Amino acid sequence: MQKTTRRGIAAYGLALLAAPRLALGQGAAFPSRPITMVIPFAPGGPTDIVGRLMAEAMTKEIGQPVVVENTTGAGGTLGAQRVATARPDGYTVLLHHIGMGVIPTMYRRLSYDPVNGFEPLGLVTEVPMTLVTRKDIPANNLAELVAYMKAQGDRFNLADAGIGSSSALCGALLANAIGVKPTVIPFRGTGPAMQEILGGRVDLLCDQTTQTTEYIRAGQVKVFATPSRHRIATLPEIPTTTEAGLPGFEVTVWHGLYAPRGTPAPVCARLTQSLQAALREPRIVQRFAEIGTAPVSQADATPEAHRRFWTADIAKWKPVIEATASFAD
Ligand code: ASP
Repeated sequence: MQKTTRRGIAAYGLALLAAPRLALGQGAAFPSRPITMVIPFAPGGPTDIVGRLMAEAMTKEIGQPVVVENTTGAGGTLGAQRVATARPDGYTVLLHHIGMGVIPTMYRRLSYDPVNGFEPLGLVTEVPMTLVTRKDIPANNLAELVAYMKAQGDRFNLADAGIGSSSALCGALLANAIGVKPTVIPFRGTGPAMQEILGGRVDLLCDQTTQTTEYIRAGQVKVFATPSRHRIATLPEIPTTTEAGLPGFEVTVWHGLYAPRGTPAPVCARLTQSLQAALREPRIVQRFAEIGTAPVSQADATPEAHRRFWTADIAKWKPVIEATASFAD
């Protein structure tokens, strides 16, 4: 009796300690089953890389598997729609990025509300971008690349992940800044787009260091600049677009976690708690550093900070998008 009771109590204590679950009314505890994290782009790309790291770390903390589901297409709007229309019970969340800041202006008609269809749970990270090309492109600096793009006109092609994606935003701002109209080739994510760059079948891709760092370091692509205010700490040799002679456009890809509108506040709070714990994880901190980024501060990994940042970002991009010829097509 003695022995059993002590083991029983210890096991019960451990279970409670291991995965603090939220007691909701009617005895249900959250979470009591796996959570789906929707990634709106293809496996292997930058959003997928960040999402899978977060899902793994949140699984450890929240006591239930956080399972990634790649719902791709239409520049990330199909994945967003999947979550906006999901049951608001905390078991379906969305890992998305700056796309949530530009989609409200870029799309006139959507089957979901791109702003009020979601509960922001907290920001995750901000990732710099890089302009990379197939490695045999006949240019060795941004000025030569610009000259080549002008000479090639629409024979020059540019990959992206569809209207609403960060690669499309960056590509269009680049084309607009140069005054050229390259042929745009959309993919379901920049993971597959990168394979075409590596294969020499596509000319240029503007993509995040979370994916491009390894290919840049391996010399498998040519890199020309980063559309950031400052150089990238892990890739200090890359000039900013302004330094390289092309001022006037900056794109850094912020990421955030979302639940469907109407998800109960205690459930959102439990998901935010798990997000914050994941961002403190040493493995996350180290892996993010290796791929050119870092977790946001704990204060930014909150619904309030996320909503504030997101609202300001929509307002920032609206006039830019409306004034940028490349988006009008
Ligand atoms: N984040 C990329 C983009 O927006 C797409 C991806 O992650 O695959 O372009």
